Amino acid sequence: MFFWRERIEPSGARYGVEWAFTDRRGGSSQAPFDQLNLARHVGDLDEAVTTNRHRLAHELGLRLADLRFMDQVHGCDVAVTPGTQDHDQEQADAAPSVDGLISGRTDEALVVMVADCVPVLLVDRTEGFVAAVHAGRLGMVTGVVPATVAGMRELGAEDIEALVGPSVCARCYEVPAEMRDAAAAVAPSAAAVTWTGTPAIDVAAGVVEQLVREGVPVRWLPGCTRENPDLYSHRRDGQTGRFVGVVRLLEREQVA
Ligand SMILES: [Zn+2]
Repeated sequence: MFFWRERIEPSGARYGVEWAFTDRRGGSSQAPFDQLNLARHVGDLDEAVTTNRHRLAHELGLRLADLRFMDQVHGCDVAVTPGTQDHDQEQADAAPSVDGLISGRTDEALVVMVADCVPVLLVDRTEGFVAAVHAGRLGMVTGVVPATVAGMRELGAEDIEALVGPSVCARCYEVPAEMRDAAAAVAPSAAAVTWTGTPAIDVAAGVVEQLVREGVPVRWLPGCTRENPDLYSHRRDGQTGRFVGVVRLLEREQVA
């Protein structure tokens, strides 16, 4: 079920965090979505996706209703979950059409779905905020990651750490030269070449550069979705499922 998982317990006045990336093992979806597809928009059976989402929630000690998904649109809009601020509770069940989601709650987990795009998870363990971000090529170019960092800082975050999950690597991501140049104009680290020396974009490197520029410490996990059959890859398989990055803030300890 998990490609990578870590739980940092709260300590004193600091919040804890549980964050993870799933793989495609241990679910009930059939080919070409097998097995742990967590996305409804890809053509998989709804009941299979619901079963898979239940399993993920259960693993995290939450209910399905506590998982907060986004209706990801490759843009740079960011939303804050209801209850973090003075938000309209009526919208609590709707997945907002954004690519960055921020929460200050400890009773829900934020989820970003990917199959080559870059999943970014953020936490501020001092002020108590988490965020999940979907950064594909367009998201990197339009700055969805810096926009999410800015959104957290507006809420009061000062001590943000980032975790960058597996995505398609530069050598596997061939693009036209003009597209590479447009990405490099935003973040020079994004300019790359493929296994055969043709123009490519390193979207994750671009995202890491953006985080470093924001002064946010980064951990970048190794792994190429296109090369690892345990992960979903749209470039490799076309119609396929989505794995997720998931992040949950853990309550800080009662300080006497
Ligand atoms: Zn690769």
